[in-house]
Amino acid sequence: MRELVDKLAQNRVLSAEEFKELLSAECENSYLHQRAREAQQRVYGKKIFIRGLVEFTNYCKHNCYYCGLRSGNTGVQRYRLSMEQIMECCQTGYGMGFRTFVLQGGEDDYYTDDRLTEIIGNIRETYPDCAITLSVGERSRESFQRLFDAGADRYLLRHETANIHHYNSLHPANMSPENRKKCLRDLKEIGFQVGCGFLIGSPGQTPDNIVEDFLFIKELDPAMVGIGPFIPHSATPFANEQAGGLNLTLNALAILRLMKPNLLLPATTALGSIHEKGREMGILAGANVVMPNLSPVDTRKKYLLYDSKIGTEDEPQNAREKIDKQMQVIGYEVITARGDYVAI
Ligand code: SAH
Ligand code: SF4
Repeated sequence: MRELVDKLAQNRVLSAEEFKELLSAECENSYLHQRAREAQQRVYGKKIFIRGLVEFTNYCKHNCYYCGLRSGNTGVQRYRLSMEQIMECCQTGYGMGFRTFVLQGGEDDYYTDDRLTEIIGNIRETYPDCAITLSVGERSRESFQRLFDAGADRYLLRHETANIHHYNSLHPANMSPENRKKCLRDLKEIGFQVGCGFLIGSPGQTPDNIVEDFLFIKELDPAMVGIGPFIPHSATPFANEQAGGLNLTLNALAILRLMKPNLLLPATTALGSIHEKGREMGILAGANVVMPNLSPVDTRKKYLLYDSKIGTEDEPQNAREKIDKQMQVIGYEVITARGDYVAI
């Protein structure tokens, strides 16, 4: 196992069989995680970047089989935050030291380019020292360009799975893996710092699919990769499926860190939701970003991508303090900075 880890650290890639062997390795005190931590610390130090997440709409026109916000879930009370509410979230976050705001939502056609650019423009003008990240799904290249021109810096669009057949088993026929990947390439060409990512343990996923994800990431060369376990939601077709595993998620994080030491790699909310120390374990496996929720507390329970999501009760005022403490305990420091990608 040690030889494989050393080989990955050196070559940044392995054969499919070797990747699969590492993925299934025992996690506890593993050499894989130790090397991933070292790689992360060489680029970013023992510092953790934070991003303030603003879940500004839970309307979605799509019907992804895994997601609680899918249009077919009529049990969701839908909401959109007003401009004032969004700006309040940013104000609270700024006061706590957040220098990146992530606007995330379902794919909501209410948000035309005009409406989105108005929001981006307001944040850009009020907080010129902050990064603005969007996570609002697939749009046309022209639309992406307008959002970029309005002042957005980064864009998160998980590819969900790089395998075409697997993708088609997680989404209805009106969504295509080709378009998802095209969006990612367009975003990158336009100049966004781009984040892709995938679900760990989504129904039907094989170890070979995860290897395909690694190879897709290698080819796309994104600034960020968001990965987290699939967690079932009771009002979806996957209600009775098993959640993705902790070990598998941690090993995938560590492998990604060694493949690309300068990646921005969040310890995701989903990871924190399957284990009470999930986020800390994610950091110790090589992650370096945490994204606490800045959304108004009364809307959080309406933004349930999956069941038992953590952080739906916390006041935003406590978000920073809580993360600071969690990271201190494991010897890391949360910093007040935009936390841009370091090209090496
Ligand atoms: N609508 C946008 C952004 C919101 S969804 C989009 O789809 O890109 C953000 C992410 O939540 C998705 O990319 C997906 O990977 C994740 N997600 C959705 N349902 C989930 C579930 N049941 N378990 C874990 N993650 C989930
Ligand atoms: Fe909509 Fe995103 Fe959920 Fe799919 S994953 S249903 S696009 S919010």
